[in-house]
Amino acid sequence: MAASPHSTTASSGTSNQGWREYLGVFRYSRRAIELVWQTSRLLTVVLATGTLIAGLLPAAAAWVGQLIVDGVVAAIDANAGIPADLLWLVALEGGIMMGIAGAQRAIQIAQSLLRAQLGQRVNVMILEKAQSLELADFEDSEFYDKLTRARREASSRPLSLVNRTFGLIQNGISLASFAGLLLGFSPWAVAILVAAGLPQFFSEAKFSGDAFRLFRWRSPDTRRQMYLETVLAREDSAKEVKLFELGPLFLQRYRDIFKRLYREDRRLTLRRDLWGFGLGLIATLAFYGTYAWIVVTTVAGQITLGQMTMYLSVFRQGQSAVSASLTAISGMYEDNLYLSNLYEYLEQPITVGSGEATAGADPGDGLRFESVSFRYPGSELDALSDVSLHLTPSRSIALVGSNGSGKTTLIKLLAGLYAPSSGRILLDGTDLRDWDSSALRERIGIIFQDFMRYQLPVGENIGAGDVAHFSDEERWQRAARKGLAETFIEDIPGGYHAQLGRWFRDGRELSGGQWQKIAVARAFMREGADVLVLDEPTAAMDAAAEAEIFEHFRALTEDRMAILISHRFSTVRMADEIIVMDGGRIIERGNHDSLLAENGHYARLFRLQAAGYQ
Ligand code: ADP
Repeated sequence: MAASPHSTTASSGTSNQGWREYLGVFRYSRRAIELVWQTSRLLTVVLATGTLIAGLLPAAAAWVGQLIVDGVVAAIDANAGIPADLLWLVALEGGIMMGIAGAQRAIQIAQSLLRAQLGQRVNVMILEKAQSLELADFEDSEFYDKLTRARREASSRPLSLVNRTFGLIQNGISLASFAGLLLGFSPWAVAILVAAGLPQFFSEAKFSGDAFRLFRWRSPDTRRQMYLETVLAREDSAKEVKLFELGPLFLQRYRDIFKRLYREDRRLTLRRDLWGFGLGLIATLAFYGTYAWIVVTTVAGQITLGQMTMYLSVFRQGQSAVSASLTAISGMYEDNLYLSNLYEYLEQPITVGSGEATAGADPGDGLRFESVSFRYPGSELDALSDVSLHLTPSRSIALVGSNGSGKTTLIKLLAGLYAPSSGRILLDGTDLRDWDSSALRERIGIIFQDFMRYQLPVGENIGAGDVAHFSDEERWQRAARKGLAETFIEDIPGGYHAQLGRWFRDGRELSGGQWQKIAVARAFMREGADVLVLDEPTAAMDAAAEAEIFEHFRALTEDRMAILISHRFSTVRMADEIIVMDGGRIIERGNHDSLLAENGHYARLFRLQAAGYQ
């Protein structure tokens, strides 16, 4: 859910809530680290060790630096040549620097390797989850939003959060070790270092939190913008956009959305940076105040020159560690946004059919709808109400009705893509809910009017109808023959292995009617299916080709159950039973002649179409 930007402000709760608000930046760090740990233990260990070393060594270098300066001063005073110790110390500092470089390089290597592995892992998690979801989930815009956002940044965000968390730990370790050294000068200096950083820390945490909420709140706008981008720049929409000259209109909308988003961004950026600057000044003042203090103390002879060098370097590095932490924090909020979205998506409850039946209680009974009603989620009207029908093997039904009368919905319920809101659907006497989902799918072959045009070779486009025989070339050919696609496929250079679609090299585009023949062939891939459904996949063919396909279809499905949806009466009249639907209800049923004799809805539609042909 996109939270309103005002619903959870820090000021609205108790101080406890306020704290939690600030600590929200760590909300998903644990889960991100878990994810990285599960992806590769070795790399995580390398990352953690590198972080620890890179955090500790800078303080060690500062310490050795102090010894060197003091050694130099002592040597000059003693005027007794160059002590060997001193050179060893220089070598030691060089060694420490190499150690830092090595640790940083190890961190980098671990990060790049993890990035690739983690991206793959998260993508697979997302896609696996997508397999287990219901169709209804994909039609829910908010859910779809989550899915798209989760996929978009899958490869970078989890690792980024881990990097920033580790970066923060590294800077924290450095800070603690610097503070340890500074204690030798004065506990007050440590207090100043921390106190000067705190206001900036809190302001950064607050503004990052605001940015986080702003992001969530306006995600519908961002999604709309993304959609416009897609429409303006994709091959499948280019034709209409050009023809209708929609480009400028859509582009203007795209700009307007940007302007609105930009106004909010500017406000936040200005406030954030002005505060950042003001509070940063405090830190600078504190630094130079302490600088003066250290200088005065050195001149007074209370600390050595070496110590002065060390304290100054520690103090300066301490401050850059503070500001690096601030940057990490503001990035962490964005990463959190991504991860919250990812986990919301992954935690979507699964509601797949849990049945186990692989055969019906009453084999041969066929398909029954018993007072089935259905309403789409979020809709106010029933798409189907009180539908009852019985289809036995070797019989066929044609569904007739105007657009939106519920024909496709009926088929989707039959396919188990949705469950009825009330009533039952039985196959061979067993409720669809009790069927094992893959046993059920094997029994039913369906081609929808909006069938997929896969950017795959011709043969695989047909093979998609039955994954168990996806690459079975003989079956492709049998199916193509039944779908009347054989002749034109043989004319394509490359035949069954010709790439279809324009996305990949040498892909060729088919005409609408040719694609539909491929789709019909796809339905015939399921040789074991005893319920075959064609939901208007032939609308782009000419009437003669459609009639030929259906005649053929009937002959090939003699002992099976067939359901056809078509607007052409030449086709519809071939069915044993014609079911006329309107507004989700069955209003007439019978065969062609009896329905004409009834002189109702069907007869009227038939005369309209017949008149059109005269
Ligand atoms: P037909 O196939 O007869 O043209 P449909 O079964 O596709 O009709 O649609 C029946 C009704 O259900 C229509 O009013 C349509 O608006 C609605 N509908 C179809 N699909 C969805 C959906 N995914 N979500 C909500 N309503 C839908």
